[in-house]
Amino acid sequence: MNNLNKGAILILSGPSGCGKSSLLKEMYKQIDNYYFSISTTTREIRTGEINGVDYHFVSKESFEADIKDDNFLEYATVHNNYYGTSLKPINKALEEGKLVIFDIDVQGHDLVRVKLDDLTTSIFITTPTLGELEKRLEFRGTDSLDVITNRIKNAKSEIKSLDKYDYFIINDDLDIASKELISIAIASTKKSRLFNKNNIIKSWLQ
Ligand code: ADP
Ligand code: 5GP
Repeated sequence: MNNLNKGAILILSGPSGCGKSSLLKEMYKQIDNYYFSISTTTREIRTGEINGVDYHFVSKESFEADIKDDNFLEYATVHNNYYGTSLKPINKALEEGKLVIFDIDVQGHDLVRVKLDDLTTSIFITTPTLGELEKRLEFRGTDSLDVITNRIKNAKSEIKSLDKYDYFIINDDLDIASKELISIAIASTKKSRLFNKNNIIKSWLQ
């Protein structure tokens, strides 16, 4: 008997460089039955990134064809590039009862909330200060000065949406922040509304 109606969604947002990928790496060591949503983007591939693992890197024309064909659950323009979440793999993972993890921006968060609010838990992640964010982007060494300036500008605006999120994590000490993330991820799969009440009551009464 299937007690779980469907999977659940966990959205992570926060300025580029705050540590979302680093925190997720820690989390994957501790949880299973998850699916990370690999976004599609028109931005340039960074050194160390793998096409099909970090993102599906595509041309602007290909992305626009997917928009026309209604292939995205959500998409947005971030830092002058398109980023989007393909619908099909998400539906499949949800049908399989998985925790579906999104690393998307504030606009994407708002769009997923409109379409799949019942399944969604969201976390806004940031650094202790803007100065620390700048340091991390410089230290990561993957972006030019122009790109970093643009990301910092975006970060100042994104933090204003903090109160739209269910949870807030300050990624200062990676170990502490990853423990906080893991707790929220586990709790996000235990929400009573995710379960099939009728099946549970029927089997519980036996
Ligand atoms: P995001 O995925 O949010 O863009 P990353 O995970 O790539 O961010 O992290 C950006 C940089 O900051 C990386 O060089 C990473 O090693 C570093 N970093 C992540 N978390 C911390 C932390 N808690 N303290 C110091 N540096 C960190
Ligand atoms: P980056 O270029 O640093 O990988 O990501 C830049 C920003 O785009 C981050 O805020 C990230 O969360 C966001 N992003 C990544 N994928 C998606 C997506 O599919 N949809 C939306 N709306 N934002 C995304």
